[in-house]
Amino acid sequence: MTIRLRPHHLLCMLTFVGKGYTAAFTENYIRIAARLSEGEDILVVEGPDDVCAPMLGEAGMHCLDGSVVERDLKAREAVEALLNVPVGPGASIHPDADFLAAMRDAFSAGSIRDGCARCEWSPLCTGIAASGFDGVLVNPLDC
Ligand code: SF4
Repeated sequence: MTIRLRPHHLLCMLTFVGKGYTAAFTENYIRIAARLSEGEDILVVEGPDDVCAPMLGEAGMHCLDGSVVERDLKAREAVEALLNVPVGPGASIHPDADFLAAMRDAFSAGSIRDGCARCEWSPLCTGIAASGFDGVLVNPLDC
């Protein structure tokens, strides 16, 4: 099994602490976080992914908005520059401890956060990074 994630969710998964848009969204995301923590591979996809899935029938969902597609592009460019590997649609990522450590360091430094511009969750994510990622739910086992 793989977990399908769009590029900007490679950032969002770093700071997920169990908060989200709806109960269904959050419950689904908690299950995904557990699978990521167990080292299940990520398949990068274009557009709505496994995190978005519970929102697709909701009024006002933004998963297909141009601003969110732009967020994906900026996140992809930043993570590719950081890791020096392609992370566009079709890429496979193993979310091990080294990957998470590199991503967290860069997120804390602000060097991969262009895609976070105008995101309503940005103050929360900034605070979580400043706390040393206290309470986040994606915590890889050493796998
Ligand atoms: S600020 Fe928004 S886009 Fe950036 S990591 Fe947090 S939730 Fe994701």
